[in-house]
Amino acid sequence: MGFRYAKCGIPSMTVDVRGLGVKCSECKREEAVVDLKYARKKLCGKCFSDFFVRRVKRTVEKYRMFGPKDRVAVAVSGGKDSVALLDALKKAFPEQDIVAFYIDLGIHHYSEHLREKVKALSERVGVPLYVYDLKEREGYVIDDFLRTKFRSKMCSVCGIIKRGVFTQMAAEVGATVLATGHNLDDTVGTMLSAFFAGDFESISRLKPVLKPLIPGQPKKVKPLFNTPEIEDLYYVVLNDLPVQECNCPHSFGASVSRYKRMLDQMEEGNPNVKYQLLSVFLKKLVPMYERVKSLEEGGVSAPLEVKECRICGLPTSSSDGVCSKCRRVALLKEKGGQKLEVSPEEVLEMLRRGERVMFIDTRKREVYEGERIRGALNIPREEFEANQRRIIKKLRRKYGKRAVFITYCYAGRESYPVAVALQRGGLRAYSLKGGISAWKEAGGEVETLTGVEA
Ligand SMILES: [Zn+2]
Ligand SMILES: [Zn+2]
Repeated sequence: MGFRYAKCGIPSMTVDVRGLGVKCSECKREEAVVDLKYARKKLCGKCFSDFFVRRVKRTVEKYRMFGPKDRVAVAVSGGKDSVALLDALKKAFPEQDIVAFYIDLGIHHYSEHLREKVKALSERVGVPLYVYDLKEREGYVIDDFLRTKFRSKMCSVCGIIKRGVFTQMAAEVGATVLATGHNLDDTVGTMLSAFFAGDFESISRLKPVLKPLIPGQPKKVKPLFNTPEIEDLYYVVLNDLPVQECNCPHSFGASVSRYKRMLDQMEEGNPNVKYQLLSVFLKKLVPMYERVKSLEEGGVSAPLEVKECRICGLPTSSSDGVCSKCRRVALLKEKGGQKLEVSPEEVLEMLRRGERVMFIDTRKREVYEGERIRGALNIPREEFEANQRRIIKKLRRKYGKRAVFITYCYAGRESYPVAVALQRGGLRAYSLKGGISAWKEAGGEVETLTGVEA
């Protein structure tokens, strides 16, 4: 069985789970399906899952991530890493008090999808699920940041918001430990990139266990920090767990980090390279850096002055006493909400006002040729995703900043991410609510061009 996987920052990842033609190195009975080169093992599905859960259990115990009295919250996004983490943690520690946290970020067509998956997952694993609805609780959604100067850094804003919310959820639910799904590739990739920037402080913050900055905050742990990324995917597929199937519209066109790619290339010649780097960073560099830092400070530790944010009360070390989350949210208040969808009636009104409206059909070419909104250009979603920058530049040059771009498909799943990307590129763009059928119902014009080369 093949499995395609898409996640924020990763265009797609594929695993092909099929027999390797040899017996499993553990049970010597079943046919092996997973080849673990660094461990010189070829395992069957059952033995691989056992191996995966054993490693999680050993890691938690070795690094004393939590004890029997802790209430452990798992931050679940619906992506493969956190899905694998929740299932494996519960299997490794069936008696532990474990809960799942999900933040509904209000990312249209995406958060709803993930919420369903996470709900199904927590029911199956048998842990209580706590959902924090950003819109309900705080009155804004992640999409609103497209209106701010952060529109080119959506993933970083989103990360800051999520970090703040998880800390708050932990306090509300009484969780003493917060576990996240960072995997080996994330960890070493980020370490390598920080290393090249000479940012040793960031490397030391990638330790698998981070004690709370102020009392009462949860301890942060990463039980998968030594699990290769691809194995999370294998685990999810082999155990048939509910997992994310569509891309985040804001990561549309984002590429895998340069350093992660570099690591994959190095791995071809040396299957152990990720573990070797991890060990050099954590066992040599970080302790050395921390020693030097404490010497510089005259042996006084905890140099950062951490206080409570003046607005939300979460810990912050910023000089003005306002945390990075609140600073970003304040920008939204100035700008107001962002609109990403318009109804057919609103578009007809724009046309009546004489605005320059350009329609962009994001469906496949064959469909577009069958029937389209009158005068629409055809830019299929995949094509747009692959050539985003070039297309936005061309549209801006050809139609100018005053033109309004209306993207459409059937229901909005395909056209919404394109509208988001166009807005990020500084254009006025909206996705058409209800797609082409709603357009026709509202009396909008369509044309048919069967067989004609467009
Ligand atoms: Zn086996
Ligand atoms: Zn704050």
